[in-house]
Amino acid sequence: MCSTAALAAGLAAPAFAQAPFPDRPISLIVPFAAGGPTDVVARMIAIPMGKSLGQTVLVENAVGAGGTIAATKVARAAPNGYTIFIHHMGMATAPALYKKLAFDPLKDFDYIGQVVDVPMTLLARKDFPANNLKELQAYIKANPTKVTLANAGLGAVSHLCGLLFMTQLGAELNTIPYKGTGPAMNDLLGGQVDLLCDQTTQTVPMIKDGRVKVFGVTTLKRLSALPNVPTLDEQGMKGFEVKVWHGMYAPKGTPQPVLDKVTAALQGAMQDPMVKQRLVDLSSDPAPMDKINATGLKTHLEAEIAKWGPVIKKAGIYAD
Ligand code: ASP
Repeated sequence: MCSTAALAAGLAAPAFAQAPFPDRPISLIVPFAAGGPTDVVARMIAIPMGKSLGQTVLVENAVGAGGTIAATKVARAAPNGYTIFIHHMGMATAPALYKKLAFDPLKDFDYIGQVVDVPMTLLARKDFPANNLKELQAYIKANPTKVTLANAGLGAVSHLCGLLFMTQLGAELNTIPYKGTGPAMNDLLGGQVDLLCDQTTQTVPMIKDGRVKVFGVTTLKRLSALPNVPTLDEQGMKGFEVKVWHGMYAPKGTPQPVLDKVTAALQGAMQDPMVKQRLVDLSSDPAPMDKINATGLKTHLEAEIAKWGPVIKKAGIYAD
């Protein structure tokens, strides 16, 4: 027989029970400006993820400081599944690049999974005087202080790709930081800046439409979406290779059943035929299915932090 107290507790239980996750929209934080490559990936997967979760996944851009402002915001957000985060390999380079970092990539997050690997392209404004890499090298040599190179801030992959380019070239260009390569691309199209290294998730349509000049791709093999564009490696910049991996995170302490639901939604999104086709069109590779989980991302992040730390320290680049 039930006691009155037990009965009361039993009756009260539904009022205190947590609503099943998710019962409201989820924010997917993007650390760069709208319209750029990371934003493109986020918006591509937000729709199928929302469908499978039964709630809208809203993309929110929290920009600045090469992605570290967004990462800090997410690290401090309530760990309830309503804030999730997509970032690229900047998550692994930030600890070495930033002397004071308000988050720890290995302690302040739960891991949802790897997302996609995206190549980069080296571009110029359409009316830039050089027409190929050789001419670009000669132009920079003759005009060392004149050429401007856009990036999305310290730790952005456009910054790292630009550094690699300048090292191979043996030249220092005037670098101009933006809040993402979305706005940097707008200035490239408008002719306010000369050069930009950026992911194919943004650049393939611009290249195909002839709206920008392209000097090469950053992979060792040519890309299926841009078969006529040579690699930087084949043009003499030996070993020039940058491919940008992306991962999805949640604030540390997010309940496991919630993480499981979000992970399943991400896995489903990466198998969505429209997402798959768009990634093919942009010469980007979805992460292998067995890496779209917490272990797949965490293991990769640890390896990348170990890889980039010494390289960055040796190069002596950092922010205070
Ligand atoms: N492509 C940018 C970067 O350089 C990020 C972005 O705007 O999505 O990291």
